[in-house]
Amino acid sequence: MTLAKELASVIGQGLVFENEMMRNHTTFRIGGPADVLACPETEEGFIAGLKWCKEHDIPFYIIGNGSNLLVGDKGFRGIIFKICRTLDWVQREVIEGRTLDESKIIVQAGAGIMLAKLAKDISFLGYKGFEFATGIPGTLGGAVTMNAGAYGGEMKDVLLSVKAVDMEGNVHEFTLEEMALGYRTSRVQTENLIVLSAVMEFKKGEMDCIIEEVERLAGQRKEKQPLEYPSAGSTFKRPEGYFAGKLIQDAGLKGYRVGDAMVSQKHSGFVINVGEATAQDVRQLMTDVDAAVYEQFQVHLEPEVRMIGEFE
Ligand code: FAD
Repeated sequence: MTLAKELASVIGQGLVFENEMMRNHTTFRIGGPADVLACPETEEGFIAGLKWCKEHDIPFYIIGNGSNLLVGDKGFRGIIFKICRTLDWVQREVIEGRTLDESKIIVQAGAGIMLAKLAKDISFLGYKGFEFATGIPGTLGGAVTMNAGAYGGEMKDVLLSVKAVDMEGNVHEFTLEEMALGYRTSRVQTENLIVLSAVMEFKKGEMDCIIEEVERLAGQRKEKQPLEYPSAGSTFKRPEGYFAGKLIQDAGLKGYRVGDAMVSQKHSGFVINVGEATAQDVRQLMTDVDAAVYEQFQVHLEPEVRMIGEFE
């Protein structure tokens, strides 16, 4: 039996693909073939798949919507579990009352739900605090892992608790404090955990103000970010005391290009794919940018984008 067929029988419900091009699963539209890409449909199936990989010593990696990922041109040897569109349920419970007019709402959702959709649903129900997330194109699981944030808000502000599984297949519940969320980091990253679901809380707000804020942030993104090109968002983390985009622009690198990978003219913090960019183009460009910025300002730029798989 092939690896894909064996895995399909272990996870039960869900889809399993062989030699699947990762460029079809990343917002960069870059990445060679994964030996196997699996989308388990249930939490049990997913955990069974994880345990099976551990038992058989098969390398694996978890992705959500691939919006913070650069996958090598030669692809990934092993199994990619894609949990977007699988663990994508939502449960809403209005506490302190029964109607949507009440003061707060508790929402529990699966890691695979798209963050922007969830944030819009909550905002348009008149609850505040999630407006910042309405333009982030990742899953809830990816957002918890990265402590995603924008325009002064971050996941840390809305989370109450997180359910995660460790590499042995044991399930844990963590409180917000136990999650150790920091700038684009969390316990999930440092301890190699996998988010299964999260519980969040939102307070009732003024509907008009919330909608106005969602629209204002969407307008700002459209005006300032190169949303018309494939990318993985901000390529580098914000160095303490600086802005990566400003340093890159001041180093004269706006429009700097390696192959079809380019520093966006619109926002220097974004590397964009203007055609058929390879992972190697992007990686070389990132190395060049870091070196040029360091030479001029003695500041190193740390990648925010996660790199996986085999490069040239
Ligand atoms: P992926 O890219 O699939 O994975 C990212 C990392 O998270 C990987 O290490 C992966 O292993 C891990 N991961 C994914 N799911 C899980 C899980 N369930 N459990 C454990 N680990 C997991 N980010 C911001 O913070 N703020 C922004 O404003 C923002 N704007 C963006 C704009 C654009 C146009 C784009 C393309 C990206 C932007 N991003 C932004 C980056 C990205 O959307 C976020 O980092 C997002 O949270 C990643 O989610 P994902 O599901 O796509 O994760």
